[in-house]
Formats: sequence, C-alpha cells, structure tokens
Amino acid sequence: MGNRNSYNSEKRSIWGWIQYVTGFYKNPPYIEDRLREADVRSAMYLTVSIIGMEIWLLIRYVNKYVVTGMCETVGEFFHYTYSYWILLLASLILFIYSVLYMRGKLNYMKRFSRPIIFLFFSLGIYFGISTSLNDFSKGRMITCFLSMIMYVTFIFVVRPYISLLLMAVSGVGFILICNNFAFDREGNRVVMGSGDLVNYITFFLSLTVLTLTIYFQRYGDAQKAYKLETAAITDALTGAPNMTDLSNKSEEYIRKSLAENTNPVFLIFNIVNFQTYNDRFGYSGGNKLLKNMSVIIRNGFYGDPFARQLADKFIVLTNKEDYVERVERIRENFKNAFASETYLDIKVGSYRPANSEVEPRHAVDRARYAMGLMKNREDVLIAEYDDALRRNYELRQHILNNLDTAIKEGYIKAYYQPVVDARTGLLCGCEALARWIDPELGFLSPGQFIPILEESRQIHKLDRKVYENVISNMRESLNNNVPVLPASLNFSRLDFELMDAVEELEKLVNKYNISKKLLHVEITESALTENEEGLQKAVDTLHEKGYEVWLDDFGSGYSSMNVLKDFDFDMLKIDMVFLKNFSGNQNSRRIIKAIINLANELGMQTLTEGVETGEAVDFLREAGCDRLQGYFYGKPQTYEEILEKINDGTYKLA
Ligand code: C2E
Ligand code: CA
Ligand code: CA
Repeated sequence: MGNRNSYNSEKRSIWGWIQYVTGFYKNPPYIEDRLREADVRSAMYLTVSIIGMEIWLLIRYVNKYVVTGMCETVGEFFHYTYSYWILLLASLILFIYSVLYMRGKLNYMKRFSRPIIFLFFSLGIYFGISTSLNDFSKGRMITCFLSMIMYVTFIFVVRPYISLLLMAVSGVGFILICNNFAFDREGNRVVMGSGDLVNYITFFLSLTVLTLTIYFQRYGDAQKAYKLETAAITDALTGAPNMTDLSNKSEEYIRKSLAENTNPVFLIFNIVNFQTYNDRFGYSGGNKLLKNMSVIIRNGFYGDPFARQLADKFIVLTNKEDYVERVERIRENFKNAFASETYLDIKVGSYRPANSEVEPRHAVDRARYAMGLMKNREDVLIAEYDDALRRNYELRQHILNNLDTAIKEGYIKAYYQPVVDARTGLLCGCEALARWIDPELGFLSPGQFIPILEESRQIHKLDRKVYENVISNMRESLNNNVPVLPASLNFSRLDFELMDAVEELEKLVNKYNISKKLLHVEITESALTENEEGLQKAVDTLHEKGYEVWLDDFGSGYSSMNVLKDFDFDMLKIDMVFLKNFSGNQNSRRIIKAIINLANELGMQTLTEGVETGEAVDFLREAGCDRLQGYFYGKPQTYEEILEKINDGTYKLA
C-alpha cells in the first residue's frame, strides 16, 4: 500500500514544495479516479445549463433570421448558427457520457474522461473566441468568451501546471487574436483599450486562483478519503492488507480463476511456537518476526490476494498451480531467516472454494480447522480441508450450534452399562454414559461430541444434564417401587473449572431427594495431572459430602502411580487396554494381577472395564477383581431396557 509517489505533506523540502504547488507528482490511481470523477460530476451539471441556454439562443435566432425572412433556406440558417449547433451537440454528448460515467456504466471508457472533457473545453473556447471576436469588432462586450472560459475551467480542474498553462494560452491568445484580427465596418483594426485590458487581466487572474483553489480542495479531499480507505484495509503492524481487503478481492478473484479453469485455494499460514519466540525476544522482537513473515509470504505469492488475519496468522488466496512448492519455499526462506531459532516453523491449512460466493471468513475457518488437526504432525506441512474433514467440521458446527437445544429437548440422554459383582455375577450397579440422539444426524456417541464440548469448554452443560437425567430416573424408580441401581457418573476435569460441580450434584440430590450412596463420581486418571490442588479439594469435598470417588481409566495415561500417591479413591477402574489381545499375553495377566494387589494394599476396590469374553471373566475372578463391566454383560442401554431386563430375569440383582 506504499504511497511513495503522491505528495507527502509532512516532509516538505523546497523542491517538494514547488512540486506540490505546481502539481508535478504522480498520484495513486485511487486519487486520480476521485479527481476525474469530480470533473465529470461538474460536467454533468454544467452541460445541462449549456444545453438549455443553447436551445434558448437557437429559438431566438429562429425569430431573428427565419421569422424576419433574413434566411430563406434551412442551409442559410445553419450557416449563421452552426457554432451553436456544434456546441449543443457536444454538450449533449458530454452530458450523456457524464451520466453514464456517474452511474458506473463505463468500465473501460472511464479513462477517456479527460480527453473528452478537453475536447469539449477546446470547442467551448473556440466558440467563445469566434463569437466574442465578432462582438469585439462591433465594439460590443466580450462576455461570451469570458463566460465560456469560466464554464469550461470548472469542468476541467486539473493539475496546477496544466491549469496555469491553459489559462495563459487562452487569456493571452484571445488578446492577440482580438488585437490582430478584429476590424470594424470600415476595415480599421480594433484594439482593446487599456482600461478594459486591466479588467480582463483581473478576471483571468481571479479565475486562475479559483481553479487552483478548487483543485487543492478536491485533491485534499481525495487524499483524505484515500488515507481512510488505506487504513481500513491495512494491518497496522505489518503493513500487509487485512481481511477486509482480502474479502473485497476474493469474489472477483475466485470467479476469474474458475472461469480460467484454475483452482483457487485459500491458504492459512501459522507460525509454530510463535509464543516461545515472543517470550524470548519480547513484543518488539515478535513484531519484527511478523513483519518478516509478511514479506516472505507476500513475495512467495506475489500479486495474489493476501492478508494478515490475526496474531501470527496470514492468509493467501491463490490460483497458482505450484502452490505446494511455493509454500515449501516460503518455509525454507522462513527457516533460513530465523536459522538460530530452530523451534520455529510454519504450518499451513488449505481450503478450496467451490464457487465465488464462498465467504472468505468461512473458508479461512475451515482451512484453520484442517491446520489445527495436523498441529502435532511433524510430517505434514499443508493440511487440506477435504471431504472427511468437511464431515468432521460440519458435525462439529452442528454440535456447537445445537447443544443448548439438545439439552432442552432431551436429545441428550443417559445410557446405562451394567456392572456386575465378579464373585457372584449379579448386577450391582451401572455406569451412566451420555448419548446424543439427534433428529438430524441420528445416534451420536460420546467419542464424537465429548472432545468437541471439552475443547469449546461447554462439557459442564452436558454433564449437568446427564446427572439430572440419572438422578430423575432414580426418583422415578423409587416412586414406582422398582429396584434402584447405583450409578457412576463421569466427571470431566473441566466440570470443576466451569461450574461448581459438587454443588450442582448436591442440588440435584436434594431436589430429587435420593441417597448419596447411589451415586459415584468417576474422575479419569488423565484429568488429575493438571490443576491438582483444585481437584484434590474437590475430591475431598465429595468424600465429605458422602459420595464415593472412583478413579477411571487407570493405566491408560502416564501418571497412574503419582495419582495413587496423592489422591484417595474408593474404587480403581482398570482401563480396558489391559484386556486388548489379552489371550496370548502373559504380561497383561501379570500386570492386572499386580494392579489389583496394589489397589487392595491401598484400601481400594477394583473394577475392570472392557470385559468381553468368558476367559477374561474367569481370569479376573481368579485374580481377585471385585467388579466387572463390559460387553460380555451388556452394552450401554436405555433406562427402560435395563428395567425390562431386570424384570425378565436377564439381570439378577445383587
Ligand atoms: P469411559 O468412561 O471409559 O466409558 C467406557 C467406554 O467403553 C464406553 O464408551 C463404553 O461403551 C465402552 N465399553 C464398555 N464396555 C466395553 C467393551 O466390552 N468393549 C469395548 N470395546 N468398549 C466397551 P462410550 O460410551 O462411547 O464413552 C466413551 C467415553 O466418553 C467414556 O469413556 C467417557 O470418558 C466419555 N463419556 C461418556 N459419557 C460421558 C459423560 O456423560 N460425561 C463425560 N464427561 N464423559 C463421558
Ligand atoms: Ca467412565
Ligand atoms: Ca473408563
């Protein structure tokens, strides 16, 4: 967006000042456009009045020449009045041109505005000179020339040096013409008197000052508008265009690319570990890096729409076939520029718009989504938003947009998976697992929505709903005098951050008036690595209030032993990874046995998840595991299904 050519009012050398006053500088196209438009606008108004006046004059001449019989033929009438006709025609043409110009109908004809107006200018001056020369010869006033010159200077407001030149040529020229070519009836030369000459010169000087004033006024306005426009589409830090600018250009660019059978693609560039660099080199260091990055990307995709979106995110819209190689080169250049900071890298996401109506903001969101999914993949430089991603993305949007409705309308429900006593095989409880039965997308499992809700920090809404569902089911069973099964509830680590999870649970227990003995809280092992203090307190409070707290997914993460050291749990749930290809693996058996012994030493009971075979059941019973859960005993199912199976004796209660 450099504006090096046009005059910069802050730094004004003598030479610069002369340039400014005379107008010898190059303007950006935007300013030139505005100046031209101002001329055309004046032309539109002035030609209307000239047309009116010419018609009025011609009617007068009809009276004078035709009615009085001075002209016998039409030809003769034209002979006397031809200059009025020419001016009328020229005014009409200029008027039509101006109207079309102002209405934006003249895309390619626009640049002809100056020549066209100049032609009209010359015609007007010619008309003024010829009429006034005639008047002057007869000793009359030269008002026609003066009014014509005034007219045309208003529609031809150009650079000062051109205005000055035109004024001088027409002013001096007319005097010379008068003094040399004006003769009275007797054939004597007529010369302008010195009094008239002084008035004449005064008139011209005033007119010159007036045109210059108008020029500078218009120029100032145009420059102000230009600065505003530039600021609105430029990122202040890097000087790169911003998203507004890119959005303005994208539709046209995509349309053109598709018409030329090239494939436009949005690219989003992200700097990996920018934060680390910022921490090391401070704010100003970070800014320098961004400026550098901006130049490297701009050069890599020279001429293509380009923007800095926010922080360390840059966007390019390109139809260059070799964009992958270009991105690789940009990465190389970037790595070379910051060779000592080896942790720095770039990652790119891409999205192909199907048509020109695609909103750049949406396109960029999708490209960023693709990039985000590849964040930890060392081997992937460009992540494309493809069909599989599209489905993921749409699911994600659907989940985020419909969570509140799903909660309100009851699309989210608790399913129950049976838990049995290992020694007796009798049903002793269940785990509540969330399901989302969507009217549009059908059955959704937690693997599809839990990570999204955690990431968007809304998981607590769902969890609260599940708890309420479970607790109200219990109340229903109590009211109907059917057996009530204890249930374990899954708590996300975020539940303790995003709401007062214990308090919410307490409220529900009180509202439905059920025993706390019926509820257990499952906290997954991986949750306990972060925010330990807060969680430790929450676990203590849960115990104080009378709930059992179970450790979920034991052995699946990296922190198992630590967790056992710092927290008190009532039950240890052994993760199902140990039962995967358990058959031929003696080590799995040894590990499970050891875990069970360890848990017992620490005063905890054990529950093994993912029990699918009789072989596993036998082994676990032998090993001393207290409870079992898995497809061998049943999948997660609805409250009604569980009741039915209790009723028909499929499940026998402990
Ligand atoms: P989890 O708490 O470890 O739950 C056990 C998962 O293992 C359940 O998957 C269950 O259907 C599955 N499973 C049970 N028995 C077997 C088996 O024998 N074989 C195999 N292959 N799988 C078995 P689900 O219901 O898809 O839940 C997945 C995870 O989503 C849960 O893992 C839990 O971490 C989370 N989740 C489920 N419901 C909720 C909820 O209401 N709130 C929160 N915060 N998380 C939930
Ligand atoms: Ca669980
Ligand atoms: Ca589990």
